[in-house]
Amino acid sequence: MERIVTVNGREYKWPLKPLAVICIDGSEPEYIEKAVQAGLMPFTAQLLNTGIDLRVDCVIPSFTNPNNVSIVTGCPPSIHGICGNFFYDLQSESEVMMNDPKYMHVPTIFSAFEKEGAKILVVTAKDKLRKLLGHGLTFGSGGSICVSAEKADVANLEENGCEDLLNLTGLPLPNVYSADLSEFVFASGLALFENAKPDLIYLSTTDYIQHKFAPGTEGANRFYHMMDGYWSLLSANGADLVLTADHGMSGKHDSKGNPDVIYLQDSLDTWLGAGVARVILPITDPYVAHHGALGSFATIYIPDELEIMSTISKLKDLNGIVEVLGKKEACERFDLPGDRIGDIVIISEGSKVFGINPDHHDFSGLDVPLRSHGGLSEQVVPLISSKTFKAEPTKGIKLRNFDAFHLGLNLT
Ligand SMILES: [Zn+2]
Repeated sequence: MERIVTVNGREYKWPLKPLAVICIDGSEPEYIEKAVQAGLMPFTAQLLNTGIDLRVDCVIPSFTNPNNVSIVTGCPPSIHGICGNFFYDLQSESEVMMNDPKYMHVPTIFSAFEKEGAKILVVTAKDKLRKLLGHGLTFGSGGSICVSAEKADVANLEENGCEDLLNLTGLPLPNVYSADLSEFVFASGLALFENAKPDLIYLSTTDYIQHKFAPGTEGANRFYHMMDGYWSLLSANGADLVLTADHGMSGKHDSKGNPDVIYLQDSLDTWLGAGVARVILPITDPYVAHHGALGSFATIYIPDELEIMSTISKLKDLNGIVEVLGKKEACERFDLPGDRIGDIVIISEGSKVFGINPDHHDFSGLDVPLRSHGGLSEQVVPLISSKTFKAEPTKGIKLRNFDAFHLGLNLT
């Protein structure tokens, strides 16, 4: 009889071969398309011919944590609760980081499979994601493995289920702002795959390269060529592959190369009084150098309910806005958790980003014109499988990036 694991209301079939889902951070579809066209991804080119090559929507906000958590739980933020890097907690009246698993409302696909006897391998680039992805897993000798490239030097059996990663990969500890951080994800993922024989593998990179280099440029192509080599080795070692992205990436600058920023707090202060409204930019995290905390999605808290409608209509009149929604409409449209977003959700057009006010943002880390994400313009991502569909996909059913495990385990 077929073994089925049920988690978060969805059923997943037990993998016949190890399944590796790879989340390429910030992988706008053009990155792979152009690197393949340039002949720099020979393995992927072959895989696109024989497997599945789809374009699907990620979850909004098109940020890293909401999408990674969606992929590993198989459900949207309204169910798992992670809708950004932080939210404003009305009870404690403070801005709260959401990178602790206590903010996750549901278990991951990994912990459900582990309970049924599966071995899990998770490698993430930045440590900020590690605890969310590894939530509910058991480590120690022979247990699952969940480790970040950023903290590879301190990986240990008790906390990560593995140790000695620098020796195992033969690579030095990578800098957190580098392409090497993502290469380390693949090098350690491959080595641990060979050593530990996991059933499910999840490798999640960082978008350092995508923030700096547009699709088809030398810097981007070199990165995708590197990944192609590792995917080929994973496949040669017996893994089925599903490739997707947490979000896309767009240029967010004017013709002079300066960040094209809509400063929301300035307008709100003029309309409502200084500091009355609170703007939350949920892209903000401890690693802001490459995006200056500037993204195309913001949420706004307005203390006086009576001011919400008029503020929405004023925001709609600002230049460069594609969507302004009240909380209820935003939650319905984007499957967001109502207790963790503000009274208003606002999304900018593709080339623009939101800021608080000019003093709030540090552009000194931006050594190239700003590229960022967060909005509808970065919603389309690749969903690629090394296997083909078992049966013709049902018409009208739209897959999302958080169907990656569903695609790999059930549909192919
Ligand atoms: Zn990302």
